[in-house]
Amino acid sequence: MKTDKSNLLYETIRSALRHVEEFVEEGVAPIKRLQSDENKTSPALGLIHDQLKGCTRCPLHEQRTQIVFGDGDPNANLMFIGEGPGEKEDLLGLPFVGRAGELLTKMIENGLGITRKEAYICNIVKCRPPKNRTPTPTEVGTCRTFLDSQIKAVSPKTIVTLGKPASSLLLGKDIAITKVRGTWHEYQGIPVMPTLHPAFVLRQYTEQNRRLVWQDLKAALARSRETSV
Ligand code: SF4
Repeated sequence: MKTDKSNLLYETIRSALRHVEEFVEEGVAPIKRLQSDENKTSPALGLIHDQLKGCTRCPLHEQRTQIVFGDGDPNANLMFIGEGPGEKEDLLGLPFVGRAGELLTKMIENGLGITRKEAYICNIVKCRPPKNRTPTPTEVGTCRTFLDSQIKAVSPKTIVTLGKPASSLLLGKDIAITKVRGTWHEYQGIPVMPTLHPAFVLRQYTEQNRRLVWQDLKAALARSRETSV
């Protein structure tokens, strides 16, 4: 016969297990579904993703929760490349899903009139730099091979680089984003349009900054449609 003490222990364990089950059903499972359902891929992208698994090639692996590979149409005409995952991206495993990501999504969907899923979005480094610092040239250089493979696999008609680090990498020189945004460049034969990073626009939320980004995105979309005919 159970004593009062052992009954109490039994009930405590059962209650704890119920909480774990609820957490798995309501908390963890939706995140996993979000990753697997929404992260469409292609055989070429799948191969690159496999090569990245467990990557420890640069120090950014030390504090990441997970690798943030990319999101969107694996055959998109329009590709967005940002700097690196932030806190929310690191937790969910998807690029541009925090506040800056919400603004980017709004600009794509409301400003350009296409869905976010019609574009492909990724970053120059796939692991979150601690405290959202700018990735070092060594980290960017080490991760670059994966970005180059992604660009080759998606083969977009136009690339939009978001902010200074991504623009500097693809333009092959240290640039001032406010000077080069809105001008056309080329990377591996693909037209590149640098523009302001949505996080910068959030920090300096002026009508002018929003208008400049909208102009750049419109030009990029038009170019991707020209070259895709
Ligand atoms: S940032 Fe890139 S190179 Fe560095 S650990 Fe992550 S996946 Fe590997």
